[in-house]
Amino acid sequence: MSFADLGLSADTLKAVTEAGYETPTPIQSQAIPMVLQGRDVLGIAQTGTGKTAGFTLPMIDILTKGRAKARMPRSLILAPTRELATQVADSFKNYGRYHRLTHALLIGGESVVEQRNVLMRGVDVLICTPGRLLDMFERGLLLLTDVKILVIDEADRMLDMGFIPDVERIVGLLPPIRQTLFFSATMDKEIQRLADAFLMNPKEIRI
Ligand code: AMP
Repeated sequence: MSFADLGLSADTLKAVTEAGYETPTPIQSQAIPMVLQGRDVLGIAQTGTGKTAGFTLPMIDILTKGRAKARMPRSLILAPTRELATQVADSFKNYGRYHRLTHALLIGGESVVEQRNVLMRGVDVLICTPGRLLDMFERGLLLLTDVKILVIDEADRMLDMGFIPDVERIVGLLPPIRQTLFFSATMDKEIQRLADAFLMNPKEIRI
């Protein structure tokens, strides 16, 4: 299996080659075609398996093909920590270097004014920790009505950190018709309950 077999665009393949990746990891070869088809995905995978590229690469192609309404966010990526959100944003920038997609990184500890200014210019993708996203939403700085792809990364760490009520609130603010990609390193009862609540007929991938 090579990256060229997965259905990604030429521009995305170019960014992958420049990242130095030769072959897709197992989660990438299984998730990327499913995401491109519009399927929900439940990925049981640890950090280090390449899951970030597994959801970011196809998302970039989906968003590039679709049309933005006044550059409202069309994709929302939730991560448990600032560090992880920052890493996802770095990957997004790297993999999307040949695309014209914009993003905002909304994490605690950064200036709300600066984040608001980025949002005002219009972004395609929000990469957030749950608390800061809700804070920005409550300040009336965010519209989530055009979100078509939701990614929940490291759901088990969200659970450990007590973020699940925030995540449930956020999901309740999103359009019900959307594509959801849900990743967790472990699967227990509570994670399964969330996956059942958030996902529709997901393709389950266990690495
Ligand atoms: P992740 O699990 O998404 O945090 O990725 C772990 C690390 O693997 C990151 O440093 C990526 O740059 C790297 N990586 C992701 N996909 C591949 C690949 N197909 N080949 C080689 N390295 C990769």
